[in-house]
Amino acid sequence: MTYSMISHLSCPKCNETYLSNTIQQLCKCGSPLLVDYKLDEVKKRVTKEELKSRPYSLWRYHELLPVEHEEHVISFEEGMTPLSKLPFLGKQMGISNLYIKDEGLVPTGSFKARGASVGISKAKELGVKHLAMPTNGNAGAAWSLYAAKAQIEAYIVMPEDAPEITRKEVSISGAQLFLVNGLISDAGKIVADLVKERCFYDASTLKEPYRIEGKKTMGYEIAEQMNWELPDVILYPTGGGVGLIGIYKALLELQQLGWISGKLPRLVAVQSEGCAPIVRAYQEGETESEFWENSETHAFGINVPKAIGDFLVLDAIYQTEGCAVAVSEDEIREAQRDVAKEEGQFICPEGAATFAAAKHLRESNWIHDSDRVVCLNTGLGIKYPDAFEVEAPLLEPYERVSFSQEN
Ligand SMILES: *Cc1c(COP(=O)(O)O)cnc(C)c1O
Ligand SMILES: [Zn+2]
Repeated sequence: MTYSMISHLSCPKCNETYLSNTIQQLCKCGSPLLVDYKLDEVKKRVTKEELKSRPYSLWRYHELLPVEHEEHVISFEEGMTPLSKLPFLGKQMGISNLYIKDEGLVPTGSFKARGASVGISKAKELGVKHLAMPTNGNAGAAWSLYAAKAQIEAYIVMPEDAPEITRKEVSISGAQLFLVNGLISDAGKIVADLVKERCFYDASTLKEPYRIEGKKTMGYEIAEQMNWELPDVILYPTGGGVGLIGIYKALLELQQLGWISGKLPRLVAVQSEGCAPIVRAYQEGETESEFWENSETHAFGINVPKAIGDFLVLDAIYQTEGCAVAVSEDEIREAQRDVAKEEGQFICPEGAATFAAAKHLRESNWIHDSDRVVCLNTGLGIKYPDAFEVEAPLLEPYERVSFSQEN
């Protein structure tokens, strides 16, 4: 049995192809590389019915993942996160079929574990011993812990104001942690130098082709969990955009396999008003984005002023007749509270941004009441203890609770 049905890597810009059994980074033209599979053979080997009996993790799709030998897989059973309906919030928003896909429920508390599991497994298969990456926190946390399990040494560079918990996750894994007084783009430049000097594996977003393969499984899961009847709209909090590009790639693969048919969901890239390069490019009808100066948002995972895969994000939006929406910091906080109050889920600010955006899109009637709408919550709310302040009366041990105003 062949574990993976990977074929080769190819460049979405210049169509150059590369082998997948040696280390590859960017195409020589500077574009990220994408993985191609032998889909005709996958079709003969597996049916979607057979998937039902498989283990409950993203590795159930192993033919469509790049790792060739199962013994190289580093997994903590990430994936197959719940896709649940939110009836109360849906009613409030006027969207009868509102769903959340909750990526808070994976190891390390963010969907970054998907990319780390597949990315680190493939790195191990390729014999990588040292890797370096810039991060806004969650990716560094996931990659260092998975790297520890794979016995790969990780060098992680993150902005010093990234969520503190992620710094601790990196540190406890034994990875080498560096903080930078700047943005992820500044961390990226430091990593580029380090990689060049020491010949480390560059695990920066889309500079290795396999992280996206882990993230794309969100797309497979949404299709499978909806019994292969796709939703009408998927909203995704977009930083580097890998999750969105991945979901789009997954849906195209499923189409080619004949496992889904009909119109693809309209893909929506959601950003913060404090960092919205993709939204600006979309509004101007551009196919690439421009660097967003002085970017700032408390939704740390989407603070990416210029994404290397921006042209792929915009293509996915245009091809699916989706759109890109920016929401304010206050709207993000409000949505975070609404989801917790109405539905009992404490989601991360990035995930909350998708609900704020859905609200806008419903108000402008871009989303119809009859649409089935999936919001991606990319991580746990408890990873961001400083996202808002809590005020509560302080009582002495003998004091009784008194209410200043009865109602
Ligand atoms: C990284 C991250 C994002 C953005 O993901 P991309 O796929 O790079 O766009 C969103 N939310 C959280 C919590 C993240 O950690
Ligand atoms: Zn190329």
